[in-house]
Amino acid sequence: MQEEFQEHNAYLKDSRNVDVLFGMCYPSTYRAGMTGLATHLFYSALNLRSDTSCERYFRYDTRSPVHSVESGRPLRSNHIIGFTLTYENDILHLVQMLEMGEIPIWNTARTEKDPIVIVGGPAISGNPEPYRDFVDAFAIGEGDFVIHGIIEAAKSSNTRRETISRLATIPSVYVPTIEQGIIKRSIIRDIDDLFHPTQQVVPIVPDGDRREPVFGKALLVEVTRGCKHSCKFCLIGHISRPGRTRSLESVKNIIIEGIQKTPVRKVALIGSSVGDMDELEDLMAWMEKKELEFSVPSLRADRITKNTLKLLAKVGQRTLTFAPETGSEELRRSLGKGLSDEHIERAAAMATEAGMRAIKLYFIVGLPGETEEDVKSIGTMVRRISDISGLKVTVSANPFIPKAHTRFEREPQLPISEIRRRLRIVEKDLRNIPHSTIESLDPRFARIQAALSLGDRSLSKVIWKAAQYGGLGGWRRGEKETGIEFFNLANNGERLQDTLPWSFIR
Ligand code: SF4
Repeated sequence: MQEEFQEHNAYLKDSRNVDVLFGMCYPSTYRAGMTGLATHLFYSALNLRSDTSCERYFRYDTRSPVHSVESGRPLRSNHIIGFTLTYENDILHLVQMLEMGEIPIWNTARTEKDPIVIVGGPAISGNPEPYRDFVDAFAIGEGDFVIHGIIEAAKSSNTRRETISRLATIPSVYVPTIEQGIIKRSIIRDIDDLFHPTQQVVPIVPDGDRREPVFGKALLVEVTRGCKHSCKFCLIGHISRPGRTRSLESVKNIIIEGIQKTPVRKVALIGSSVGDMDELEDLMAWMEKKELEFSVPSLRADRITKNTLKLLAKVGQRTLTFAPETGSEELRRSLGKGLSDEHIERAAAMATEAGMRAIKLYFIVGLPGETEEDVKSIGTMVRRISDISGLKVTVSANPFIPKAHTRFEREPQLPISEIRRRLRIVEKDLRNIPHSTIESLDPRFARIQAALSLGDRSLSKVIWKAAQYGGLGGWRRGEKETGIEFFNLANNGERLQDTLPWSFIR
């Protein structure tokens, strides 16, 4: 059992005074869950309803994964439990939480006494099929309005069965046990007037504590949603289109109200393409004037300006992060990334002038069409950036993971031995570059992620076994004991030419 800690702004409602008990689950650490805007968004949206009590559950770092943070409410006492699946591999934790909470893991084994299990998040909005046997309903796409439809369905039904039938009538809700045909992903066209949580939960823990969210104690503010670019490998660029931006006025209003209701002085701007907000510089200058600390996520190199960087450095963000994806301009162009070497080098030069201390670069290794020269071009680019900027350069080089719905959904992943060989080339080239370091995802975990991204419903049995055994060995044993292809699924070119399991999601 973990030691307890307090939080600002948590809701504690009397469960006798509401119609619906909702358990909001994040199948990973408290820190990861509280870093995501979705947690704050749905937690506030549900608790602001007088008919619903929403309490949170995390797999790790709270007193129990199956007793709520707020009141210790047992997971299975909820009418509905909703998971956010951000990363595919978290499915193991989801299954473990169901088992620990004494909720039957298979949807067909649940009875009227069991909660309804709903899952949303980017991993399932691409391809829910590998998880379908564990889930009663998936919320595909953006859940801002759908969440209220789910509560209404529960309130207006007399039985669990009836609620599930009603859920199947909500557009963009996929109920695996009911034949529905095509499911259309929910996309909200205009996010400007959309509800945004301003009273956000902040843990009362020492700075740097392992439970502190990634951005520290900060107000999360969604500036953009989706992305207007469609890089061929990128899930967000394909399932969350078009890219949308909140107006400057709306963002400012959220911040003004947010810092009144949430006891923090830092704002973390959230969005896959924050740099696409035209008034980003004005917003940063405004926050600086208000003496707010702030952070921005990775920016596109072509959207970086001297002023942006100066403002960031002034408020303490001393690392510039961006993603060239590959060192080769030609390959980058063919990916649809639209960044030239010149953009990247210019950004590196500006980082030094602005007073940044480090640069972090993201690359993908093993991309379709990547040649030996392309692999070597990563080292060449890092050397150029290091020479131009004189700064410490951290390289994050990760294996290509094909994702459903992207232009690369039928592209096989390279064999693990080949990915390892290519990563070794990058590592070797970086050894001679002063102040550079490299980190990368183990290709075996990339293989698991790819299999889950591209798999079909047969994988549920492998997932179940892997959840029992745990770790990498658990996946191997799962594959062996079920006889279902798993580790080679994402590099089985033939299989990827068949009908795709996610083709019913549009
Ligand atoms: S990689 Fe970045 S720029 Fe490209 S589509 Fe994805 S979020 Fe947009």
